[in-house]
Amino acid sequence: MSKGLLIVVSGPSGAGKGTICAEYCKRHPEVFLSVSATTRSPRPGEQDGVHYFFYSKEEFKGMIENNELLEWAQYCENFYGTPKKYVEQALNEGRDVILEIEVQGALNVQSRFAGGTYVFVLPPDPDVLADRLRGRQTETEEVVQKRLSRAMEELPLMSHYDYVLENDQLEEAVNDLERIVRAEKMSRPRRIEDLEQIWKIKE
Ligand code: 5GP
Repeated sequence: MSKGLLIVVSGPSGAGKGTICAEYCKRHPEVFLSVSATTRSPRPGEQDGVHYFFYSKEEFKGMIENNELLEWAQYCENFYGTPKKYVEQALNEGRDVILEIEVQGALNVQSRFAGGTYVFVLPPDPDVLADRLRGRQTETEEVVQKRLSRAMEELPLMSHYDYVLENDQLEEAVNDLERIVRAEKMSRPRRIEDLEQIWKIKE
């Protein structure tokens, strides 16, 4: 059985990564959406183990020391990380896995994991990004400002990604993500092992 595809959906906070990933997984319930660990406090309505695993800074450091995280990053004074074991398990079962993470973490995955697909999500323009961050009404203006300046630092790093996904209309953005996944599954490096067996191809 071939391994699942690791799809890393990343980009500035407020780009709409979370909404795109949630909608994609509604359409594809077989896909494993990784639940991250974080030290930030839960927002109203967020449940432990569903939206995030919420930890203290000490607990989070313990996870780093025990090598339990595939990647982690500090983002605006909090830590965020991807628990490794569930991701590896799902990929080995042949399930596709989506990581919805910020840019530094995505680059860390790139340096440790061969074969992932990296998608950078962007809103149509900077004004829309600011509006989306303020429109959530979950963060103070100070936090919004920090996230905006972080977004500007992250933009040049899109050069490390395979695809850029402009998130104007949600429906269309999810369609685009489906197209990306489909294309990746047809890519020669992913197909070659199966094809060599079926067609008895010899170099
Ligand atoms: P928020 O506080 O808005 O939920 O998340 C802040 C940022 O952290 C978002 O850009 C989100 O994608 C990112 N993030 C969420 N989980 C992880 C993770 O496991 N690792 C990394 N590196 N970033 C994450």
